[in-house]
Amino acid sequence: MTYSPNPARYTSMEYRRCGTSGLKLPALSLGLWHNFGHVDTLANAREMLRYAFDAGITHFDLANNYGPPPGAAEENFGKILKEDFQGYRDELIISTKAGYKMWEGPYGDWGSKKYLVSSLDQSLNRMGLDYVDIFYHHRPDPDTPLEETMATLDLVVRQGKALYVGISNYKPEEAAQAFEILRRLGTPCLIHQPKYSMLERWVEDGLLDLLEQEGVGCIPFSPLAQGLLTDKYLQGIPTDSRAAKSHGNLQRDAVTDERIAQIQELNQLAQGRGQSLAQMALAWLLKDERISSVLIGASSVAQLADSLQSLANTRFSDQELRQIDAILKQ
Ligand code: NDP
Repeated sequence: MTYSPNPARYTSMEYRRCGTSGLKLPALSLGLWHNFGHVDTLANAREMLRYAFDAGITHFDLANNYGPPPGAAEENFGKILKEDFQGYRDELIISTKAGYKMWEGPYGDWGSKKYLVSSLDQSLNRMGLDYVDIFYHHRPDPDTPLEETMATLDLVVRQGKALYVGISNYKPEEAAQAFEILRRLGTPCLIHQPKYSMLERWVEDGLLDLLEQEGVGCIPFSPLAQGLLTDKYLQGIPTDSRAAKSHGNLQRDAVTDERIAQIQELNQLAQGRGQSLAQMALAWLLKDERISSVLIGASSVAQLADSLQSLANTRFSDQELRQIDAILKQ
């Protein structure tokens, strides 16, 4: 059936300024790493994108290698954009990345100008777009001069293939150098995309402070620790889960008895707040104003609906925060 977006889509979502830039992002953004490949059901992918947009999620995050197979998420997204979102491009923030292995040979990985320019051209082609809103370098490259990688980000903006640029998985020291180079070139870094959740807190050790100082936004990925911070694994590993799928990136051995015990305690605390565990885990990130947007994944509309409810309560008492820390230290 032809899609016509919900006319009330901008009434319930919160939009946060991304660093000190002019761009606002929805408090929750949707990532297409899993569940949008050729192994997945296109109808479900379409339903999730429509539901997200109807709820005010304007930002969709991709990368060259999302699938499987690599490239498939961009192809499927491009198909759905063309069929469903014609006429809405100016209401969408679409990001993609390059930095992990995409094709064979010396030019299909890491951070050279050769790789990044070719990869972005391929991504635009797969999605049927003239430009992306944000182009990221996906991970630091220890062998390519940072100057070359950052100059390429600046170049693609000047070529009109990206409006803004970002970096992902850079540690504070590398990030500070990247910001300095980009500022000098005249293309300030918009955003940093690090892994951050209750279970993974390295960003608290310097990165968040740096981003605030530099006026760069922050969009945490895997905020639910790929599903661990939900009610999904309370009784072990269900068959319809990322941990059970052969192409899922959550390893079975991450679901330990100790982890399940922690999750059960967190779940009780969430229930006491009137939230699902997923909602509490997302709210816990959103409580910090330095977080521009939280980048969630989902395998169904029901999960999206659940996660969106996190916005109803993003405040925590000091006691709740201490309880969460105590559970996580066990
Ligand atoms: P999450 O931590 O949000 O995990 C998503 C998974 O959690 C879903 O696939 C689902 O698992 C489960 N889930 C989601 N919502 C609920 C819910 N309400 N109740 C129960 N279970 C739920 O994020 P991702 O790991 O998917 O990462 C999000 C995005 O971040 C990616 O799509 C990508 O855009 C980006 N990313 C960036 C990386 C980088 O290096 N820059 C690396 C990884 C991700 P199930 O499928 O089992 O149902």
